[in-house]
Amino acid sequence: LQVPGKPVIPFIEGDGIGKDISLPSQKVLDAAVEKAYGNSRKIIWKEVLAGEKAFRETGNYLPDETIEAFREHLIGIKGPLQTPVGEGIRSLNVALRQTLDLFVCLRPVRWFKGVPSPVRFPSLVDMHIFRENTEDIYAGIEYMTGELDAKKFRDFLVNEMGVDKIRFPESSSFGIKPVSKEGSERLIRAAIKYAIQRQLPSVTLVHKGNIMKFTEGAFKIWGYDLAENEFANHTFTWRQFENIKKEKGQMDAEKALNEAKKAGKVIVKDVITDAFLQESLLRPYDHSVIATMNLNGDYISDQLAAMVGGIGISPGANINYKNGYAIFEATHGTAPNIAGTGNANPSSLILSGVMMLEYMGWDEAAEHVYDAMEHTFAKRRVTSDLYAQMEGATLMTTSEFAEEIIKNMH
Ligand code: NAD
Repeated sequence: LQVPGKPVIPFIEGDGIGKDISLPSQKVLDAAVEKAYGNSRKIIWKEVLAGEKAFRETGNYLPDETIEAFREHLIGIKGPLQTPVGEGIRSLNVALRQTLDLFVCLRPVRWFKGVPSPVRFPSLVDMHIFRENTEDIYAGIEYMTGELDAKKFRDFLVNEMGVDKIRFPESSSFGIKPVSKEGSERLIRAAIKYAIQRQLPSVTLVHKGNIMKFTEGAFKIWGYDLAENEFANHTFTWRQFENIKKEKGQMDAEKALNEAKKAGKVIVKDVITDAFLQESLLRPYDHSVIATMNLNGDYISDQLAAMVGGIGISPGANINYKNGYAIFEATHGTAPNIAGTGNANPSSLILSGVMMLEYMGWDEAAEHVYDAMEHTFAKRRVTSDLYAQMEGATLMTTSEFAEEIIKNMH
């Protein structure tokens, strides 16, 4: 995209620490835009309601006007939202993603020098997670034990589908895992395009297809089919490698792989989720873009975030690459234990804002924020979540930290 002039950007402040991090983050983004473009560009922030604040003011956790505002303005940003308990809503985040069909959850994972990390070579971590956002076990089709629907579903499995009833005692609950070809393909297509555009070396399909053959296994097969058919000139797959190996031997397969790498092709491979979680810790440099399903993506996102300083500094976005809708968001929750104390780290939301600026085509402004954050971390100015782990660090409140970033914009 190349968003012109002075766009209106709707934002949800968010619950808990949302109130603490929202305004300081906007100040950082505004300063960077001004630095990059003077008066010719400016974000016009428009608050829209969701979560507790929306419920207090309108009696509705996710008012229609909020959805409409995101539809109208295409791009928006949000703080964390508390999941209402016992209100008939599973999760506001899931509702937003499903209503706007934001099928990709994109989480780039990159390390800032100086930030404490549990891995030995954090500077080698450069991964981009594409998590499918609308399907899988998170689709919200569940039947609870004891309820009539659970009983009906069990009877259906036993009587109509011929499933052995010993496997499902009366007390069974059920969750359905829908995975479609279209849903998988659009996610994997977006991941491959992203890798090609950014000249990244590989796309890893992460799945549990060894166990769940017709859902996660299909995801892998559809991914390979897509790469080999739609992106034949730009990719080389492990499946092609295996086929050459079978027909012509290891040497020829290695040769084809090396030629593909030399030609700058994206290598599309696949790894089983459990192996991936281990590999990504031991050899993070083996993986670049990761395409995976909803539940796997949820786990993977937090593990990889921990490798570069935790959810307090990892950004995210929910995107529909077909119609352009995008909501950028802090990846952490509402952190009720530190809300209002000035201890919240606003980095996740600020870096989500950086992703937003890049998405808008405002790269110069994005670079200003990124460079200034690099400086701030290098000077060991941090909020309390990182302070305890960093020798010689200076402790800052949420707004002091944001001000420091603005000071470090050159
Ligand atoms: P959480 O992310 O809110 O907190 C986990 C831990 O990380 C806490 O110790 C918290 O203090 C710390 N933490 C989180 N963000 C931080 C930040 N920016 N700076 C410093 N420390 C930070 O997870 P939780 O406690 O499991 O969830 C609380 C609520 O948030 C729940 O209602 C949950 O549903 C919701 N939630 C929302 C989102 C979202 O809106 N995207 C994501 C996750 C959880």
